[in-house]
Amino acid sequence: MELRDLPSVDELARTADDDPLAVDAARAVIVRAREELRAGADPGDLAARLREELVASRRPGLRRVLNATGVIVHTNLGRAPLPQAALDRVVEAGRAYSNLEYDLAAGARGSRQDHVEGILRRLTGAESGIVVNNNAGAMLLALAALAEGREVLVSRGELIEIGDGFRIPDVLARSGARLVEVGTTNRTRAADYERAVRTETALLLRVHQSNFRVVGFTEQPSVAELAAVAQRHHLPLLDDLGSGALLELSDEPTVRGALADGADLVCFSGDKLLGGPQAGIVVGRAELIERLRRHPLHRALRIDKLSLAALEGTLLLYLEPARALREIPVLRMLHEDVSAVRARAERLAAAVDGDVEETVARVGGGALPLAELPSFACGLDEGLAEPLRLHEPPVIGILRDGRLLLDCRTLADGDVDDVAAAVRTCR
Ligand SMILES: *Cc1c(COP(=O)(O)O)cnc(C)c1O
Repeated sequence: MELRDLPSVDELARTADDDPLAVDAARAVIVRAREELRAGADPGDLAARLREELVASRRPGLRRVLNATGVIVHTNLGRAPLPQAALDRVVEAGRAYSNLEYDLAAGARGSRQDHVEGILRRLTGAESGIVVNNNAGAMLLALAALAEGREVLVSRGELIEIGDGFRIPDVLARSGARLVEVGTTNRTRAADYERAVRTETALLLRVHQSNFRVVGFTEQPSVAELAAVAQRHHLPLLDDLGSGALLELSDEPTVRGALADGADLVCFSGDKLLGGPQAGIVVGRAELIERLRRHPLHRALRIDKLSLAALEGTLLLYLEPARALREIPVLRMLHEDVSAVRARAERLAAAVDGDVEETVARVGGGALPLAELPSFACGLDEGLAEPLRLHEPPVIGILRDGRLLLDCRTLADGDVDDVAAAVRTCR
């Protein structure tokens, strides 16, 4: 075929039986065919390519991916997969009308916050709680409501960037509060905060270091020490836990523990170690939470009903910790015995003629950055990485020493057959 043999866009579009997307799709096919011809390649059957283009243009952009990276809370892959109980709540709340902001007992307007406040109190021991769209929003709201136009004390060791350019000092600036740095990168003491308190001070902020650790000659005050400084000056202490564990998980601080140690407010994400939907949760003293609720930013940052339904469904599982560990995928993957991961890797390797390799899985999402979870992967030729990524459903692994490793800690038992089928198609 030569350039002058290419059909017009309309001619090609007519082969697609009045498909309303045909003209745009035909234009895209012809542009690509022209480039290929100029490069000396044969574009092949243009009508067949138009049919493929039409299928692709109707495929949803956001879709399921098989995570074989071994990173459990993978920010690029949607963080926490939801428990079934949470999905059930989403379907129920989404398919019909709901009492989202309707108080059934009073027959009058209610608050969407009422659906989760009680369970947050029960699970954390807090007086009150509020939920917004994510933890960055929770911080913004708390700082705006409690410290706008005034000063916030933060340790230099905690002025961190979480990921994707999200930096604590920027959020602080946007809230209208002024940042006052105390201490040094590696060492900050309670006395540093004490010295920095002035009449302009509104709040003490503590930020979980999340995705990094300072090792060696280091010192950071405990929550209890900071709380003592805050109380002496009648200032609130806000503890941003990042991940925020509701159950004891290695050395990750728990929400209940931070409150018991004296933090006035604690904020954390819904879709990191909690294992639920994207959400930002703030719990703590009722009088402070009330100020967050009344602030105009609350309306702009409010959680939507589907996320709220998923969050309630996830939190309800925590009422029985054994059930939470069994049914919340993030917790299940975190705790799964390595022998079960190995068995999965062996089953996959046997199905696709790969080899079983030892790997280290990670928690991800800024939680427990140093935790190394023993794991096993199915090792394959690295040339399969791209076709597997473009497969439907896509399979995302990791490259190591010229091999593609499909880590089995982040694959469920039921995923193995899907991954094996994908590998066979891509070979
Ligand atoms: C992840 C994280 C955030 C942001 O939470 P999102 O829910 O992603 O908005 C804020 N602070 C800390 C310490 C974090 O680790």
